[in-house]
Amino acid sequence: MNVQQIMNALEAKHPGEKEYLQAVHEVLESVESVYNQRPDFEKAKIIERIVEPDRIFTFRVSWVDDKGNVQVNIGYRVQFNGAIGPYKGGLRFHPSVNLSILKFLGFEQMFKNALTTLPMGGGKGGSDFDPTGKSDGEIMRFCQAFMWELWRVIGADTDVPAGDIGVGGREIGYLYGMYKKLAREHTGVLTGKGITWGGSLIRPEATGFGALYFVEHMLAKAGKDIKGKRVAVSGFGNVAWGASLKATQLGAKVVAISGPDGVVEIPNGMTNEMIDYLIELRASNRNIVSPFAEKFPESKFTAGKKAWIVKCDIALPSAFQNELNGDDARELLANGCWCVAEISNMGCTPEAIKAFQDKKVLFGPGKAVNAGGVAVSGLEMTQNAAHISWTTEEVDTKLHQIMEDIHEACVKYGTQPNGYVNYVNGANIAGFMKVATAMMEQGVI
Ligand code: GLU
Repeated sequence: MNVQQIMNALEAKHPGEKEYLQAVHEVLESVESVYNQRPDFEKAKIIERIVEPDRIFTFRVSWVDDKGNVQVNIGYRVQFNGAIGPYKGGLRFHPSVNLSILKFLGFEQMFKNALTTLPMGGGKGGSDFDPTGKSDGEIMRFCQAFMWELWRVIGADTDVPAGDIGVGGREIGYLYGMYKKLAREHTGVLTGKGITWGGSLIRPEATGFGALYFVEHMLAKAGKDIKGKRVAVSGFGNVAWGASLKATQLGAKVVAISGPDGVVEIPNGMTNEMIDYLIELRASNRNIVSPFAEKFPESKFTAGKKAWIVKCDIALPSAFQNELNGDDARELLANGCWCVAEISNMGCTPEAIKAFQDKKVLFGPGKAVNAGGVAVSGLEMTQNAAHISWTTEEVDTKLHQIMEDIHEACVKYGTQPNGYVNYVNGANIAGFMKVATAMMEQGVI
């Protein structure tokens, strides 16, 4: 394969889909040399097939707001690749949502899900609906209207959506209620469900917990320990909460969180009370982090700045794609940061990743680091299919094992001759090989 040629062709076919093209480019660069040793892959046109979604559904979502006005949004489901299992991946409700973003997320999800060792294909969906400032009733009516269309194309063995930005336990509840009414069955069609109606213990914490287990392995391999280290986290949603909680439990100090409005610096590290408050802050639906500093005077809010201005050992992007750019990377490096683990999907720009890797910083890509979330979703599917529920310890032990296996796969495929582990290459190659092998065995479909 010639990466540039494939990218040119893809750009001509999908002009302007910059996030999708960025995600594809990164994977192609990683897998180029392994792929070129496999003429059978080339003959079967695996690359040309793997970069295109199996299918995409788009639909109109009409609903009525609290003032009685009719609102219209767009809904999507991208069923990216079903080679290794039912399509699986979250729903994102955010005004920025478009096809480029959902295709990039679906593409990443396919490899991430392959890394979890569980049988799940890749998918993603969502809407340009903005939950900020919406009442509970409006959120419910939107979710119901969204599911009225989506329910036709999903199913416990077909496609299993879950949460992502703007979709948490509350939204999954409203979506599930409507699905159940339309399909007349109570099944594991969504994950991230409430604990009283088929949800899995540890699912809300899983993305953040899994990320910290992965970081522990990265550090152990480099002969380091997380205790006493300064950790900067971006975002203040579900993922940032789980990561802050586990980092604190492991003895690290979470010294920064951030939101679209600015950064909160916490010089002495987050307390348990602060971590609990994150849940309240998110539930307020205001999408600003400044109230945190008003509630805890020992912290300091700086408007318009990112978490990366705060001096730290470990940086954990946990908010949005491309939230950490080249300038941010240089600032982190100048301040002595030596480990970066993306908990957001594609949280760092290619320029930032290159800056970290050039300086031999420990760098973990999102599709490995944040795979714990979808992994526990996979465990929720297993529990639903078997009509059982596992204890917290059972789920946490499995999550630990999965993150260790993902780390091992990254080390296996990503260790360079000089000993540096290129986790980006490792994750991309390991994920790709699994999906490509499944596609080869299932013929040209
Ligand atoms: N949205 C999460 C992710 O990016 C979770 C998906 C899921 O649980 O299906 O992996």
